[in-house]
Amino acid sequence: MVAKKPRVVVVGAGISGLAAAQRLCGAGGDRFEVTVVEAGARVGGRILTSEFAGHRVEMGATWVQGVVGSPVYALARDAGALVEEKEGGLPYERMDGFPDRVLTVAEGGEVVDGDTVAGPIAELYRGMMEAARAGEAGDGGGVEEYLRRGLRAYQAARSGGGGKELEEVEEALLAMHINRERTDTSADDLGDLDLTAEGEYRDFPGEHATIPGGYSRVVERLAAALPPGTVRLGLRLRRLEWGETPVRLHFADGAPPLTADHVILTVSLGVLKASLGKDASGAGGAAIAFDPPLPPFKREAVARLGFGVVNKLFMEVEAVEPSGPEDGGCGGDVHPAAAPPDFPFLNMAFRGLVAKIPWWMRGTESIYPVHAGSSVALAWFAGREAAHLESLPDDDVIRGVHATLDSFLPATPRWRVKRIKRSGWATDPLFLGSYSYVAVGSSGEDLDLMAEPLPRGPDTADERAPPLRVLFAGEATHRTHYSTTHAAYPSGVREANRLLQHYRG
Ligand SMILES: Cc1cc2nc3c(=O)[nH]c(=O)nc-3n(C[C@H](O)[C@H](O)[C@H](O)COP(=O)(O)OP(=O)(O)OC[C@H]3O[C@@H](n4cnc5c(N)ncnc54)[C@H](O)[C@@H]3O)c2cc1C
Repeated sequence: MVAKKPRVVVVGAGISGLAAAQRLCGAGGDRFEVTVVEAGARVGGRILTSEFAGHRVEMGATWVQGVVGSPVYALARDAGALVEEKEGGLPYERMDGFPDRVLTVAEGGEVVDGDTVAGPIAELYRGMMEAARAGEAGDGGGVEEYLRRGLRAYQAARSGGGGKELEEVEEALLAMHINRERTDTSADDLGDLDLTAEGEYRDFPGEHATIPGGYSRVVERLAAALPPGTVRLGLRLRRLEWGETPVRLHFADGAPPLTADHVILTVSLGVLKASLGKDASGAGGAAIAFDPPLPPFKREAVARLGFGVVNKLFMEVEAVEPSGPEDGGCGGDVHPAAAPPDFPFLNMAFRGLVAKIPWWMRGTESIYPVHAGSSVALAWFAGREAAHLESLPDDDVIRGVHATLDSFLPATPRWRVKRIKRSGWATDPLFLGSYSYVAVGSSGEDLDLMAEPLPRGPDTADERAPPLRVLFAGEATHRTHYSTTHAAYPSGVREANRLLQHYRG
């Protein structure tokens, strides 16, 4: 008689789910029957390479955060995605690395001197954040208040004061760095970020790099290595009965249920948060009903950890000569092609002067060409601004960008946006946000709890080992690399290894 193979269903075909499946099918040989169920119509999840105005752009994961020893970078290399294709190779984000020169401008159009004003404030900010991560921020008032106290002390120590205008610009520069931190971490409010716990986060060593052939090539390679038919698209898990083995998976739209000995759940922390509510039909149908409910330790970790919104706005820009004062400098002739100017790498210090600039534009730190000389510019948004951006019609977005550019780059030619492309991670029911952070009230321990399989104790039928009915992978289950693909990928491998070990034991 042929022994029945353990059946494993992986929920989610993001990089963590695909990594788990590949490890089970690879190292596991033929020992497991593996299926990956994915609610969406594609693999990759929060990795999504797209095209816009003749460029390759990333709507989600963009950077390999440290290339030395990075498993993701190694996968990209194996996929041939680090080599620029000779023909048909599109220009891509930051293909020329980071620029040497940035233009820092204060709202109203005043260029901020890099050596005497912008540089020292950047240094001050860096030093204060390092101290805060080392637990030296002191109590009272949260991170932003701590930073403002530091700025006031810096200003008070300056001989001759500097004047009110300079102080206002410095405050605006500080706010610019805060916006950058919000995007890096996804925390809407820095006061909600546990900076000491966040000090556990690690990048890989080496430079940060984008992937010439696109991030999606990494996940496509993982998917291609799986036996045909392993990944089943368009199957959205709605209900998980995990009280006994086999576990039962029920899907939306009347798709037939599946049973499994083990489920590896890789859905985002946003989807898990939505699943904590009593009404599983809430959150645009994103919620998964757990039967029995998730135990308190898991529910509490899910609730405590932070999961924020970060969105990218791509803009195709062109330089325009204003045709007259009556149109406010808009709608003129395209700048003569002989010497088209380059869009600058623009850092923006907002100081609340120009009423036409909408509030949500004030949450971005910079607008910059995706590579030097590119006609595609990019701005990142976090928190409530990022969420609001998803709700606006294109015309409103373009109007808001124009008001901003007219204030920060008032000289002619003026910059006009021809069209835009943006991500929408908050409203997409398959994600409900962008990535996780350690919120005040949570800790690195919660990330460890996220990774713990269910049920916690040994199986009553087999006292030797826990039955590992539901295992958890995904970026929010990794203590030191959370929020990144460097967390998601190894978390999938980790859970596959857990099963391999289980059957070895
Ligand atoms: C704007 C943005 C920028 C980023 N930048 C970077 C970066 O520069 N560098 C970096 O390393 N990381 C970055 N990240 C984070 C990175 O993309 C993620 O950490 C990583 O891709 C998460 O992978 P995952 O497998 O854990 O989850 P996901 O990719 O979310 O995979 C989970 C899968 O589960 C599916 N799913 C959801 N619900 C169900 C259901 N009920 N049934 C079945 N399937 C379901 C989803 O469709 C999805 O495919 C960025 C993310 C965003 C959004």
